Amino acid sequence: MSTRATRVASRAAQPMFRRRSLRQWFDTADASELPDATRADRIDWLRAVPFVAMHLACLGAIWTGVSPTALGVAAALYALRMFALTGFYHRYFSHKTFRTSRAVQFAFALIGAACVQRGPLWWAAHHRNHHRHADTALDPHSPSVRGFVWSHMGWFLTPRAFRTELERVPDLAIFPELRWLDRYDIAVPVLLALALYALGVLLQHVAPSWHTSGGQLLVWGFFISTVVLFHATVTINSLAHRYGSRRFATRDDSRNNPWLALLTFGEGWHNNHHYFPGSAQQGFRWWEIDLTWYGLRLMALLGLVHDLKPVPAWVLGKAAR
Ligand SMILES: [Zn+2]
Ligand SMILES: [Zn+2]
Repeated sequence: MSTRATRVASRAAQPMFRRRSLRQWFDTADASELPDATRADRIDWLRAVPFVAMHLACLGAIWTGVSPTALGVAAALYALRMFALTGFYHRYFSHKTFRTSRAVQFAFALIGAACVQRGPLWWAAHHRNHHRHADTALDPHSPSVRGFVWSHMGWFLTPRAFRTELERVPDLAIFPELRWLDRYDIAVPVLLALALYALGVLLQHVAPSWHTSGGQLLVWGFFISTVVLFHATVTINSLAHRYGSRRFATRDDSRNNPWLALLTFGEGWHNNHHYFPGSAQQGFRWWEIDLTWYGLRLMALLGLVHDLKPVPAWVLGKAAR
């Protein structure tokens, strides 16, 4: 096709892709066909509207005010969902560093989906691509290749990144319940938001001394908690490939950063992790605080997970030097 004909065809396809962008807010199934190459790697602003709106909704705190109840709910939901992301979306679904039952797998896939970071298959497929191509042109989110802002919050807003590469996650795609969660990934966050609003309304009536309301729990428990959780998570893509120390001379730019490790429950030991991604533990020394590892150990004691893969002795030997 001539350049002019390509341009005309591309323009004719635009309303179709626009309609699809809107539909994809609710149903992510129809993402196999990409617009032309240039647009596939540019931010799709129409589909980015909910992401921007989530940030603006945090300003609702100006009207709802705050209370210890709202702060407690926001913090608890941050902690629970961060653990679901690091322990399950990352260490379980992406790297298979331990085993668990199908029920526990689904329970944590549900909590992970409540983070508004898409479904477990999408998350794991992109993360496996990240390890495979870390800090090369094929890495979905390298700050070294496309800059800090892009690695933090640009990359996932493109049509190309929207699709779940099922060929990367055949081991997860065999579970219909996970495929369903991945397709309708917005269902869980919407239910969480509604439940928080209802809880706030209930508390306002039955426990007025807690000084909370439906709007307040919605803003703090859902919007603020989720936005903070999002930015904390993606620091591992952006900051942990730029700031910190490099214990291992990996082929990528991954760093160990204790501040990020605290914020993300252990994920900040990112140079350790890129050197040996096959372990459920990311802090390799006793002083490398790794809250997710402690949480997984506790779950193992309770019989909920098993076969946690440890850091091998040869890796520990290198880490001790
Ligand atoms: Zn990385
Ligand atoms: Zn990883």
